[in-house]
Amino acid sequence: MNKIIDLRSDTVTKPTDEMRKVMSSAIVGDDVYKDDPTVNELEKYAAEIMGKQSAIFVPSGTMGNQICIKTHTNPGEEIILHRKSHIFVYELGAPAVISGVLTKLLDGPDGAIDIDELKESIQQGDMHHAKTTLICMENTHNVCGGTVVSLEHMKKAYDIAKENNIKVHLDGARIFNAAAALGVDVKEIAKYSDSVMFCLSKGLGAPVGSMVCGEYDFIEKAMRVRKMLGGTMRQAGIIASAGLLALKTMPDKLCLDHEKARFFAEGLIGHKNINIDLSSVQTNMVNVDFIDTSYDSYDISNMLKDKNILVNGDKNIKRMRFVFHRDVDMKDTQIAIEALRQILN
Ligand SMILES: *Cc1c(COP(=O)(O)O)cnc(C)c1O
Repeated sequence: MNKIIDLRSDTVTKPTDEMRKVMSSAIVGDDVYKDDPTVNELEKYAAEIMGKQSAIFVPSGTMGNQICIKTHTNPGEEIILHRKSHIFVYELGAPAVISGVLTKLLDGPDGAIDIDELKESIQQGDMHHAKTTLICMENTHNVCGGTVVSLEHMKKAYDIAKENNIKVHLDGARIFNAAAALGVDVKEIAKYSDSVMFCLSKGLGAPVGSMVCGEYDFIEKAMRVRKMLGGTMRQAGIIASAGLLALKTMPDKLCLDHEKARFFAEGLIGHKNINIDLSSVQTNMVNVDFIDTSYDSYDISNMLKDKNILVNGDKNIKRMRFVFHRDVDMKDTQIAIEALRQILN
């Protein structure tokens, strides 16, 4: 049977043999009592590389983001975020449900919130308005196509937040992709945030888990929220061991995924039914728009599936996201290019 080429997400990456080995021999304990040395080591290491004082291991990126929002805010306050942010688009209204906050949505190219709009949108909490207490940023930006938000922009937004005594949370699910694309240390990105969440389970290839990093006081409070949401685990060293290995060995390899995405985009550019904004192909994703064809992305995903290629498709949507990761190589990428060309003819 032909190999399945899975381009739905980088979350589909399977743990390596090395990861399975460290998992089987991980030293563990009850993490509710802080007794799991492997979790403790992962948290210490994660905090260190992010340039924060402390960190906690959480089951998912979504929970990590929501823990941060709840820790930073009180019910009735307002958070500002990009209209296409994962927190708004893909987290099921959780800020409203879990934290009781309003979400104010702003626009901006490639996931970077318009700075003038940001300045104008902050509410200081007079007698008539909800008070703005948190700004959420996302880097790389998922819905915008894995685009990188520049350090200049991050700094501008962070400075505005600080001038107004507002906290900044960074959804850094793919912060290592951003760092690889910018050629900087992740610390240089994370320093423009009060809290940062990143995923071990995406391009880094670990099976489960995300990290929340911040200052001591913040993490202390965040630990209570994690417990409340049921996200505090017991012998979590089993999965933390794979996360730690991922964190130590995978970031340097992400540039290979970026090369595959670039190769894919360049292999399709110029096709009469395909539109790709090459300038937005900055990391491991490619957003492809289908033009002058009756097929929507749902049809195309079905036709690709017949060729053993998996991509998410939606009815009536002409855009399709292709995600590159460790478990697809250049040959698979070439196969995907040819398959798409065949389908569109
Ligand atoms: C995947 C993702 C998340 C959520 O992570 P899960 O582990 O799937 O809950 C949050 N933010 C961004 C930008 C993501 O891409």
